[in-house]
Amino acid sequence: MCGIFGISGHDDAARLTHLGLYSLQHRGQESAGIIAVQDGKARGKVAMGLMGDTFGPDVLAKLPGRTALGHTRYSTAGASTIENAQPALVQFRGGHIALAHNGNLINATEIRDTLEANGSIFSSTMDSEVIVHRLARAMANRPEEQLAEALEGVEGAYALLVVVNDTLLASRDPHGWRPLAMGTLNGATVFASETCALDIVGATYVRDVEPGEIIAVDASGVRTLHMAGEAPLHRCVFEHVYFARPDSRVFGGSVHRARRELGRQLALEHPAAGADLVFAVPDSSNAAALGFSDESGLALEMALIRNHYVGRTFIQPTQAGRDAKVKVKYNAVREILDGKSVVMVDDSIVRGTTTRGLVAMVRAAGAREVHLRIASPPITGSCWYGIDTPDKKELIGANMSVDQIGTHLGVDSLGYLSLEGMLGSVPGGPDGFCDACFSGRYPTRAPTIAAKQRLG
Ligand code: AMP
Repeated sequence: MCGIFGISGHDDAARLTHLGLYSLQHRGQESAGIIAVQDGKARGKVAMGLMGDTFGPDVLAKLPGRTALGHTRYSTAGASTIENAQPALVQFRGGHIALAHNGNLINATEIRDTLEANGSIFSSTMDSEVIVHRLARAMANRPEEQLAEALEGVEGAYALLVVVNDTLLASRDPHGWRPLAMGTLNGATVFASETCALDIVGATYVRDVEPGEIIAVDASGVRTLHMAGEAPLHRCVFEHVYFARPDSRVFGGSVHRARRELGRQLALEHPAAGADLVFAVPDSSNAAALGFSDESGLALEMALIRNHYVGRTFIQPTQAGRDAKVKVKYNAVREILDGKSVVMVDDSIVRGTTTRGLVAMVRAAGAREVHLRIASPPITGSCWYGIDTPDKKELIGANMSVDQIGTHLGVDSLGYLSLEGMLGSVPGGPDGFCDACFSGRYPTRAPTIAAKQRLG
């Protein structure tokens, strides 16, 4: 997954992009990059690691210009290497192109094969690079028309920010898989994956970039065009369940409200009669635990403490790294748990590794009974559209029944929210969401195996 941010029409474009990316850091921690444009010249830096680690005032001072775009990345297509860090920046016959992409393309391999057969030389293994090549070849006049031409036949999920010379372009795929919000700041136009990044720079939210829309911003103003064809909405429900920050609005709805409602619905579907208290696995399920408490009347406690200096466990590339990190990341509060029957609320279970470690930790801190409640259905398939879910064989929900999972995790009871309960709880639902990782209803063909082997 990734976070993207762009701004046009502000003297401090690079500095504001830097700030915006800080609040999109949760969307990707492997690499970060900023490109700024001044007088037709693009300058930038991409680096492995977190924003704060590599982008100091010295770097930003070397990135002048009133237009900038940036990216935080964790790899879902292509390896975690500096060649794959974004924004991508290339020179072509018409000037320069910089591109930042959130999402996964379905047919990148086929497009790449065709381009390579015609002589294109690729410099990365990212799916996104095919869009750069297509754009460099586009014959249309205006940059927004060039992007529309480049995106013709590109399937899958994309929220894109692109700079073609001095024009900033923003676009979402026609199904609207990934979020992209538009804001304004003292006459400048700002785009960000989530509204929390508009807040941090002081921008006012205007609206979402619409599915299938391309917005162009440059000195001559803001223009918009819609790509041809009608397409059903497939907004990613997992943005609301886990991925986005609760202080953001995505797809026009509050993430906090969505999660609180998911928790409320969870308590209706799977009450835990006789329990003494409820607590969250912080931070992503805080609002869901609050909703569970609202509905059940159980006291909300803070029984798990999270160390904020450790990144998301899931992002660790090896299993050994993940196991060790559970204890580094969380600790239990004995004073709350000792002798109690407790409800532990989490947003989702992926491999079960973290959850199993947490249940053991909660028991070791004295809990008498542990009732686990999950604010989404079992994840039974990996995401083809940009969330880093592992292969089906590693997904506990794809390989065990709910009873088996409960036994494996060592809980007294386990309740997952139903699919209907989840879709009915998110703003703008129940229709128009992609729930493929929960339901197996993939709205597209699979990305080819060859794509995974070659690009992964
Ligand atoms: P596990 O028990 O190992 O399956 O880990 C479950 C935890 O992973 C939950 O607390 C989720 O909040 C978190 N999680 C779910 N999806 C993801 C993801 N795509 N990336 C990182 N963490 C995730």
